[in-house]
Amino acid sequence: MTRPYLILKRYNINNNDSNYKLENVTSKHCPKCNELLFNEINKSIDYPYVCLLCDENFYNIELDC
Ligand SMILES: [Zn+2]
Repeated sequence: MTRPYLILKRYNINNNDSNYKLENVTSKHCPKCNELLFNEINKSIDYPYVCLLCDENFYNIELDC
């Protein structure tokens, strides 16, 4: 499993205006890639979690753990 800060670093390189921080990381895992999810901080997005590796958002109900 990739360390969250590495996912964050990669995401921030690809997205210049990204505001995600390490403190936004959760203990939940992405159903697709199994990496740790981040709390969605973009208020215009109606999903609580985001996988910065897949660049996809998820609802709580979509997660196993
Ligand atoms: Zn993922």
